[in-house]
Amino acid sequence: MLIRADRLVTADKVYEPGLLRVDGDRVADVGPWTDGTADLEVGTLAPGLVDVHCHGGGTASFSIDPETAIHAHRRTGTTTQVASLVTETYEDLEAQVRMLTPYVEAGELAGIHLEGPWLAAEFHGAHPVPLLRDPVWSEVERLLDAGPVTMVTVAVEREGGIEACRRMAARGVVAAIGHTNADHATTVAALEAGATGATHLFNAMKPIHHRKPGPIVALMDDPTAWLEMIVDGTHSDPALVKWVAETYPERLVLVTDAMAAAGAADGDYILGTLAVEVRDGVAKIAGTDTIAGSTLVLAKAVSNSVAFGVDPLVALRAATIQPARYLGLDAGDLVVGGRADAVVLDESWTVTRVMRKGEWLD
Ligand SMILES: [Zn+2]
Repeated sequence: MLIRADRLVTADKVYEPGLLRVDGDRVADVGPWTDGTADLEVGTLAPGLVDVHCHGGGTASFSIDPETAIHAHRRTGTTTQVASLVTETYEDLEAQVRMLTPYVEAGELAGIHLEGPWLAAEFHGAHPVPLLRDPVWSEVERLLDAGPVTMVTVAVEREGGIEACRRMAARGVVAAIGHTNADHATTVAALEAGATGATHLFNAMKPIHHRKPGPIVALMDDPTAWLEMIVDGTHSDPALVKWVAETYPERLVLVTDAMAAAGAADGDYILGTLAVEVRDGVAKIAGTDTIAGSTLVLAKAVSNSVAFGVDPLVALRAATIQPARYLGLDAGDLVVGGRADAVVLDESWTVTRVMRKGEWLD
């Protein structure tokens, strides 16, 4: 299949016009359009989207019905997905990691993210406080040994937090700083020990104070730290999204942090062990004002970013190659020999078609 795109976006080049040749599930050629007859002509063609922080979609959590969650996001453009798990007991998390392992082995998921239980009680968000724990290494290791865990969110100020970052980095597991009450110095120490990013920067962490700059300034200041943001218009103000995208365009990582209602209707849901109410697309812990994940799909985060004034190419890279590099995934680009995962976008940078493994999805 030979596709001609008015604009073809790869990780480091834009071809106007460009060509993509697909052979089976692989990219056979990519580059500038020369001449010939295309099998298909499209507007903008970009790599398939990569979401490294997502709990579910299509009414289902990854922890309960991964098939439904995978397809809800995949059909909207997310061709590479990491399944995030919220805080539960060690026994339940271990069982969930084991249940998800075959999906990773089959290439349906790119890995597993543990968001908890090693989080700060002060910034617990949608995680049950009684189940939060210090990252005692033997207990962390138990869950890492249970299956392909690729990322762990840690409140690095907890007892053992810095050591956990060091040991995770040594194992090739991404340590992400989040749900944290850490001060600036502790955050710097965690980054030096091997932490490489922020779990939803700004959300569920100590805010910036001029005499207590806290984790946010340390994370922004580290040229190697990846910065997750949830661009749904609720989690962070659009002006802040635009500012981060302009200030740190090469470190921004768009994530959904979606719960089961992504790509589904308003209603009453469960996130981990907690009841969540979704009204007008905003998810909150039942009876409270605490946001409990988003109802985003990643394609919507891209078009939202553009609507908020972010450079479209920055938004696309923040949803493709940058998350892939953050987690060391072979995804997020269109390269010869790579998996043929792509999305077609219209003039408003809205995804209109999705290809995964060389096949167009419905
Ligand atoms: Zn989350």
